[in-house]
Amino acid sequence: MPITTEDTVRWINQVALVLHENREFLTQLDSPIGDADHGINMDRGFKAVLEKLPTVAAIDIGSILKTVGTTLVSTVGGASGPLYGTAFLRAGMATSGKHELYEADVVNLLEVALEGVKARGKAQPGEKTMVDALTPALAAAKEAEAQNLGLSELLRRASEAAEKGMKATIPMLATKGRASYLGERSIGHQDPGATSSWLILKALADTCG
Ligand code: ADP
Ligand code: MG
Repeated sequence: MPITTEDTVRWINQVALVLHENREFLTQLDSPIGDADHGINMDRGFKAVLEKLPTVAAIDIGSILKTVGTTLVSTVGGASGPLYGTAFLRAGMATSGKHELYEADVVNLLEVALEGVKARGKAQPGEKTMVDALTPALAAAKEAEAQNLGLSELLRRASEAAEKGMKATIPMLATKGRASYLGERSIGHQDPGATSSWLILKALADTCG
């Protein structure tokens, strides 16, 4: 079963819910290595997305994801707005006109989203950012596609890989974003952006898997 336009709407609704529920948690993570606003930023952004969603929900998957992107860019202050905005915009362009996503489409979506984040933020794996959750998620999705494991399993493995990647940010030294100002003191803390990336991919697996 592919991911449909309706599934995409359910995914985005679930992302908004989960980010709202994790608002304090994400903000707490952003407190020792940032400015304690990541949960506030993401919650604000996806609240605005929910207001726009009904206007595009019936068009196609690309329109939904592009709207998520433009809304995040315009409503989220801070690094994460333009980064997630670019990720969703590129994912939207890659799924333009589509009403169904199969395994290869999902791999492509994750690939262009990650490329967008990297192009915008210039971060590479190992720098303690959302890239460290998204990179293993893409690798796991590619591997699942190559093994023909099916879409549900692909989404589950991508989400689990993102969770592992998120945890692997704890011992990392931050060299990008606000956390990099702390130097060695950034070590020992989980990256908030890697955590929201995992939550977004977990919501995808939970609603479309
Ligand atoms: P700000 O740092 O401006 O307060 P947020 O707190 O909303 O913005 O988001 C912080 C998160 O953004 C970090 O935890 C990290 O994952 C991500 N981030 C910051 N800079 C970059 C970058 N250059 N590339 C990729 N991700 C980044
Ligand atoms: Mg912050």
